[in-house]
Amino acid sequence: NPAKAKYHPIRDACWSEGQPVPYLALAKTLEAIEGTSARLKMIEILSNYFRSVMVLTPEDLLPSVYMCLNQLAPAYHSLELGIAETYLMKAIGQCTGRTLAQVKAAAQKSGDLGLVAEQARATQRTMFQSKPLEARKVFQALKDVAHMTGQASVNKKIGKIQSLYVACRNAEARYLIRSLAGKLRIGLAEQSVLQALALAATMTPPPQRDVLDASKGLTPEEFKKLDATALLIKTTYCECPNYDLLIPVLLQHGAAALPQHCRLTPGVPLKPMLAHPTKGVHEVLNRFEGLEFTCEWKYDGERAQIHVPSLPAPSTPDTAPDAPDTPLAPDLAKAAVFSRNQEDNTSKYPDILRRLPGLLKESVSSCVLDCEAVAYDVVNKQILPFQILSTRKRKDAVESEIKVQVCVFVFDLLFLNGASLVARPLRERRDLLRQHCREVEGEWHFATSVDCSTTEEVAAALDAAVRGSCEGLMVKTLSGKDATYEIARRSRNWLKLKKDYLDGVGDTLDVVVLGGYSGRGKRTGVFGGFLLACYDPQTEEYQSLCKIGTGFSDEDLQTLSATLKEHVIEGPRNYYRYDSSHEPDSWFAPAAVWEVRCADLSLSPAHRAALGLVEPDKGVSLRFPRFVRVRDDKTPENATSAQQVAELYLSQDQVKNQTSKPTVQD
Ligand code: ATP
Repeated sequence: NPAKAKYHPIRDACWSEGQPVPYLALAKTLEAIEGTSARLKMIEILSNYFRSVMVLTPEDLLPSVYMCLNQLAPAYHSLELGIAETYLMKAIGQCTGRTLAQVKAAAQKSGDLGLVAEQARATQRTMFQSKPLEARKVFQALKDVAHMTGQASVNKKIGKIQSLYVACRNAEARYLIRSLAGKLRIGLAEQSVLQALALAATMTPPPQRDVLDASKGLTPEEFKKLDATALLIKTTYCECPNYDLLIPVLLQHGAAALPQHCRLTPGVPLKPMLAHPTKGVHEVLNRFEGLEFTCEWKYDGERAQIHVPSLPAPSTPDTAPDAPDTPLAPDLAKAAVFSRNQEDNTSKYPDILRRLPGLLKESVSSCVLDCEAVAYDVVNKQILPFQILSTRKRKDAVESEIKVQVCVFVFDLLFLNGASLVARPLRERRDLLRQHCREVEGEWHFATSVDCSTTEEVAAALDAAVRGSCEGLMVKTLSGKDATYEIARRSRNWLKLKKDYLDGVGDTLDVVVLGGYSGRGKRTGVFGGFLLACYDPQTEEYQSLCKIGTGFSDEDLQTLSATLKEHVIEGPRNYYRYDSSHEPDSWFAPAAVWEVRCADLSLSPAHRAALGLVEPDKGVSLRFPRFVRVRDDKTPENATSAQQVAELYLSQDQVKNQTSKPTVQD
């Protein structure tokens, strides 16, 4: 019972040392987590389970961590579940003697196929009791299912799912089906999983596996240790977001050894540093007054994190493998390009990779570059709008067939010749970039930047950037401890200043399209309006934000409607939060992400975005929203979060000027 407050990892576990962890132990843990909304309680429950796994069956910690996150591999392997609900319904029906229509009706009523699967199993009488499921085998089976591709694999997939499903007991069926459908819906964010790992590693420290008596709670000394361990695990995960590497080191050498073993490595994409929006030049100066900062042009393309590993050191009899000065060379065949979301874009950009020797000077043996790939008119030497870049083939591009040329604007160097540079200040990283790389007209350019100190200089830089076909500026601190590269953080040390929102709310929002309203008059036959939502990673819910009907050309509506029709579902998912007065004519699965602009944000009694974050009973809504563009490079989970919506609301002058100043509630 992992929910027990005074948990003992050996005595209270439901399996013995050396035995494979039963899938039921994990399912019960997930069930207990689902039953609470308090984050600290969730962390405690999960850490109790992790402690048992660490002590009794450490080799099952890795599959356990992945299954809590509903991941199968590091994000950049693009191995994902998300089996179509119809297949899952078929499998459930066939195993429990129900028709597809019956399962569908039950799912529609409860809004949760996982629960339907659990109830169907519970009421079913079976002749033989299958062998209990093991966590590691379920994980392997999930991976097998995800690897099966193509139309012909459908029956194989259903067969595999059935063989797991018939062996499920109690809550196992719920979480198995939810895992397969792609969402666990227990409200467990990745940061909580990392914190639970830290708590488990503090209370039951590997590799000795001492079992701390937690019955009296942690002592101040142990609390300090917990903070240090959490910091180690979280920062290591930022530099090396790969549990396959991190968990074995944690188990074998303990948390203290993580930074030494799991470092930033070319080939393993990092979560990028992100910027805070600002509304004007004055806000920039307010933030950066007295600091050294630079205004870089903000190019409107696609983020490209370019990784170049080095060739292994030659180890011939003449050269000892650890000879200190063996010069290494870059392994260009293994170079890769990753997106903002750590997806592997290497096959999209064969042209960028071929041109790498032009960029890298002989002094470079390995590197990681942060860049923006921008559509470029090579003849007129001109930057082209983002819309043109988005027409490029997304995968397996053949260089001779590429019509849209790109120029890469390099703005940061994160790793050079075997060493991470993220802890160094931007000025130093920028110097190293210019020292070790060279520009090639129309192929590689350093981001234009002007080091500024006054309002006038920033205003002039913004003006120049806009005339240079850029979106605005990225203003960055240059020196000191505030100028490091903050992996995975939306930092106040990077401010974005876009020309379009100087008088607006400070940023555009990236929202998920939940539903469509049928068009009338000129718009008959297509959708004329849409219901938009933000995403709340804490609760894993999509929360309605506004309706939208402007900003679209007739052609936009045709193409958007055609795409959205592929995502129509019969009813709202039960993780959609909306008011019945906004019920659309068609519901969509969460798939499309659109960038929208608005006049301002206001409190709303009907919309559910950021509900409770600003005011207990009110959500936040967009006023006068306008469609800007489709954001193909963002998944629905990367949409603007409820927290960001609340922050945007609160940053508005008219809200800030109110006498009582609310703050975002955590
Ligand atoms: P965010 O990434 O902040 O969620 P977003 O994806 O909507 O927002 P923007 O708000 O347009 O993007 O701004 C950040 C992006 O700007 C970066 O992710 C990067 O792709 C791009 N960019 C262009 N030029 C630069 C630059 N000089 N420095 C950093 N980023 C830049």
